[in-house]
Amino acid sequence: MAKSISCKDAGKNCSWSASTDSVEELMSLVTEHVLTEHKEIELNSENIANIKSLIKEE
Ligand SMILES: [Zn+2]
Repeated sequence: MAKSISCKDAGKNCSWSASTDSVEELMSLVTEHVLTEHKEIELNSENIANIKSLIKEE
């Protein structure tokens, strides 16, 4: 099953989304995206846990 995530699900006004085969891969894409587009989001353990809770399996 593919793992997917989209910024819209996080309540962001952003059309970015990603889909990969593993959570690890997906989180590295999310990290890259947050660092370039959402610099206001601090990638602390709490926010990373929140982001992980938004991952969907398809
Ligand atoms: Zn975004």
